[in-house]
Amino acid sequence: MPGSAVVFLVLLAAAKAPAPSGELVVVGPGHGGGSLGAVGPRGTREKDVALAIARRVAALARQELHARVLLTRDGDREVPLSARVGLANRKRASLFVSIHANSMPTARLRREMRGIQTYFLSADPSGAAAAALAERENLEVRPTTTWGRGHGDVDAILDDLALTAAQADSSRLAYALQARLVQATLAEDRGVQQAPFFVLTGARMPAVLVEVGFVSNPDEEKLLREAAYREKIAAAIVAGMADFEKEIAARIVSP
Ligand SMILES: [Zn+2]
Repeated sequence: MPGSAVVFLVLLAAAKAPAPSGELVVVGPGHGGGSLGAVGPRGTREKDVALAIARRVAALARQELHARVLLTRDGDREVPLSARVGLANRKRASLFVSIHANSMPTARLRREMRGIQTYFLSADPSGAAAAALAERENLEVRPTTTWGRGHGDVDAILDDLALTAAQADSSRLAYALQARLVQATLAEDRGVQQAPFFVLTGARMPAVLVEVGFVSNPDEEKLLREAAYREKIAAAIVAGMADFEKEIAARIVSP
């Protein structure tokens, strides 16, 4: 392809800037059905916490951002990981936010580890902990799932351009959400991280995964069981989306 065509396509990909207002936001509560996700000391299940928060994110995004919102599941059922981002791509969503809760394996770490992290997709994990987390969240993937896209060459190039633009914005979205989450909850700030999450793979829009707290930590489990705390988290996620929207809008006006 000639250079000018490539430049044009890059500009095209960048110009398809996301903005939640009136556009579609897809919210993906982690796990569901037979996939419980992490389980806390008092038996709190990640899949339930994720769904409760996702429902509030959906309601607040409709109310505050006038966005259209789709949940990848609105009940206790299992949706294949690939189908979640597939839905977001098919519906041409502007944003994709996946909601999870974290967990630690050993008694000492379960007592000590707490806080909020936001992830965006990258082939290179931030560190050993990020790699281990992606591995745990990726366990849901069925062995039959294919990682490749399997399109023709042109489709693959267009896909790559859209994916590259989306990935740069995914990082911005992650920072916007993380800042609001820490500000609203006063939880420990575990920062923005990158890791190869299957659920974010192939997303053609800014896509992030939020770990809203450690359900394995007794104190955070207690908080995550409280509707008022979950509301703070949901409101912070929606405020972060609005911040991101403003940042994108400013970029379009003054490049
Ligand atoms: Zn999870």
